[in-house]
Amino acid sequence: MLSDKLPDQGLTIFSHMTQLAQQTGAINLSQGFPDFAPPAALLEAAARHLRDGNNQYAPMAGIEPLRQQVALKIAQRYQRTLDHDTELTIVPGATEAIFCAIQTLVHPGDEVILLDPSYDSYAPSVQLAGGRCVHVPLQQPGFTIDWQRLTDAFTVRTRMLIINSPHNPSGALFTRDDLDQLATLLRGKNVWLLSDEVYEHLVYDGRQHASVLAHDELYQRALVISSFGKTYHVTGWKTGYVAAPPTLTAALRKVHQYVSFCGVTPIQHALAEFMASHPQHLEELPGFYQARRDFFCRLLGSSKFHFTPTPGTYFQLADYSAIRADLDDVAMVEWLAHEAGVAAIPISVFYRDPPPGLRLVRFCFAKQESTLQQAAERLCAL
Ligand code: PMP
Ligand code: GLN
Repeated sequence: MLSDKLPDQGLTIFSHMTQLAQQTGAINLSQGFPDFAPPAALLEAAARHLRDGNNQYAPMAGIEPLRQQVALKIAQRYQRTLDHDTELTIVPGATEAIFCAIQTLVHPGDEVILLDPSYDSYAPSVQLAGGRCVHVPLQQPGFTIDWQRLTDAFTVRTRMLIINSPHNPSGALFTRDDLDQLATLLRGKNVWLLSDEVYEHLVYDGRQHASVLAHDELYQRALVISSFGKTYHVTGWKTGYVAAPPTLTAALRKVHQYVSFCGVTPIQHALAEFMASHPQHLEELPGFYQARRDFFCRLLGSSKFHFTPTPGTYFQLADYSAIRADLDDVAMVEWLAHEAGVAAIPISVFYRDPPPGLRLVRFCFAKQESTLQQAAERLCAL
């Protein structure tokens, strides 16, 4: 008799919507991935490293040149000097890192606070560690922290808080002031901070990403996770990293070495080489995606959707209540795929208790202009 450890989970919403897009022929603005090519030099480097024989296990913590490049970036961006040997671990994707971080620190019966809407892998990872999720909703408008509710959510059993900025699915950003308030709230508590910053470089209109890496006090209790997939247009390469103080890194590596052992070797070499030879990629990235956001929003401006251009990530939320207020968001994305030929992601699936009357869907604008143009034409016809 099978006793499933995740009885309440089915296929993820991302797999479901991408499959629906394929079945219906809808333009896929659901699952977050680019439909354009990664930088040619990066592809060329990966092909060369495959051919040249970098095909055996990487060191468990990741190849040194890549950890050096990440440390350099962190020093330049967040003014933190990390020891790349004791504070940085290269992992096969942020999802693996999230899972390992939770397995490392959460014991059966521990509570983990999630800010809803929260990314889909957090809660199942906590559940598999035997922990209990405590869901605190972000408040509308703007998906900001409700400080009173967050304060009230802590108990003696709270072991971890998971934050995500820039935030998927809303695109909202934490400010430096938020991090200061968080530091005050966590002071004296035996609580770890998991900071999911996979969209750290996708921040628009001249705003700065407030990283936990730039916050001395918070960093001491934090694991900061990022993903090369978002930054270099290679989500399928499933490569990311974790930055954490030495004792946390040592504990994390004990789990990571038995989950995957190491990340993919030629990919690590290609990323290290590209980071060293193309530092301007990071400078250009916000402008690159801001132009796509503006293009999509300008076109969508002629539709009945209501929205505020997103401050971060490559996701744009849109309120559809002027189109089909009678449908909840899960029904709406089915309708959109079938009737409009555009696939999107509903927001309620990222909540334990979705706010009643939520009428928001998420569109991914990491797409070629022609894709966005075609999708917008269909959305404007509704
Ligand atoms: N966290 C968030 C908020 C994400 O949106 C994603 C993926 N899209 C991940 C983690 C996982 O990243 P990866 O593909 O590197 O596992
Ligand atoms: N993070 C991506 C998104 O939000 C999806 C990743 C996945 O499919 N697991 O769309």
